[in-house]
Amino acid sequence: MIDGALKLLERLSTCYAPPGGEESVAREVVAFLNDSADSFERDVMGNLMVRVGGGGPRVMLAAHMDEVAMMVSWVDEEGFLSFVPLGGLDPRVLVGQRVVVHSEKGLLEGCIGVKPPHVTTQEEAKRVPELRELYIDIGASSREEAEAAGVKVGCFATFPAHFARLLGSRVVGKAFDDRAGCVVEALAARAAAEEGLGVELHTVFTVQEEVGLRGAATAVNSVNPQYAIVLEGTVAADTPGVPEQGRITRLGRGPAIRIIDSSMITNRGMYRLLVEAAERAGLSYQPQIVMGSATDAGRIHLHGRGVATGVVGVPCRYLHSPHLVLDLRDLEAACRLVVEALRLVADRGGPGSRG
Ligand SMILES: [Zn+2]
Repeated sequence: MIDGALKLLERLSTCYAPPGGEESVAREVVAFLNDSADSFERDVMGNLMVRVGGGGPRVMLAAHMDEVAMMVSWVDEEGFLSFVPLGGLDPRVLVGQRVVVHSEKGLLEGCIGVKPPHVTTQEEAKRVPELRELYIDIGASSREEAEAAGVKVGCFATFPAHFARLLGSRVVGKAFDDRAGCVVEALAARAAAEEGLGVELHTVFTVQEEVGLRGAATAVNSVNPQYAIVLEGTVAADTPGVPEQGRITRLGRGPAIRIIDSSMITNRGMYRLLVEAAERAGLSYQPQIVMGSATDAGRIHLHGRGVATGVVGVPCRYLHSPHLVLDLRDLEAACRLVVEALRLVADRGGPGSRG
C-alpha cells in the first residue's frame, strides 16, 4: 500500500487548491475513484461527495481539499502585489518564500520580498513583520505590466508545488494538510469498493476548511450521516526546542486519534472504536489532545441531532508552511486503521455504547 499512497500523495499534494478554488484536487480524486465509486456529486460550495456501496450504517468520511493560500488584494504602481491570507498563515514562514500567482493567463512565479540586512534597522531586525507589510514580487515594473500578465485583485497565490523523498520513509512537500487525509480517504474508498465493507460509505472531499470549516457545514446536510470520521494532516511537534509534554504527536509512531480540540470533544464510543480498530490491526496510534486546532468534525458532529464523529490524523511537521514532512508509514497505518474501523462499524451497526 505504501507505493500507492506515495504516488497518490505526490499527485494530490502538487495540485493547487486554495480555499474556494479546489477543482484541481476534485478532478484528481474523481479520476482516481472513477472505477470504485457508485456515484459522484458536487454541491454548490464545491464539496465532492463520493458514494461507495450501500446497505449498512451510513458513514461519512471527510477530508478537506483546500490548502492555506493567499489572495491578491492590491497591485501597486510599481507592480508589487499586496495580499490577504486564506487560512492561518504565519508571517514568520512567509518571508523570503517563493510563491505561485494564479493569474488569469496562467501561473506566474513570484517571491515574498524581504529587505536585505544591509538596509534593515536594528529595530526592524528584532520583530516579525505583520502580514499586511508583506508583498509579492512577480518581477513586474508597473501596475500595467502586472495587469497585462493577467494579475488582478482576487487572484490566488499558493506555495509552489514540490515533492521529494527524504531519508527513510519520510517525504517533504506542500499541502499535506490535508492531502494526506485525502489520500487516506481515497484509499479507504477503494478498499470499500473492492472488499465491500458493509457500510454505506460517503467519502466527502470538503472545501474551505482552512477559512473556517465551511464546506463541511453544507456537505453534512447532503450526506446526513449516522457516523463520521474526519481525516486530517495533523500537527506533529517532535522537533528541537519543544518540551516533552508539548510534543503532541510524533512522526513514525502511528496515526493520531483525537480526544479533544477546540472544535469537538470526541464521542467516546467513536474514540473507543478507533482505538479498538488500531489494536485489531496491530497498529500503534497516538491519543491526541490539541487545543489549538479545529477540524471539519467541529461542524459535522453538530449536524441534526448529533453525529458520533472521530478524527484520525497523519502527523505532519511544519503545518501551514510551504514544506511539510510526514512519514509514509503513518499514512499507510492511517489507511489501515480507517478500513478496520469501517469493518467494526458494519459489524456492530455503529460505534456501540456512548458511555
Ligand atoms: Zn487541515
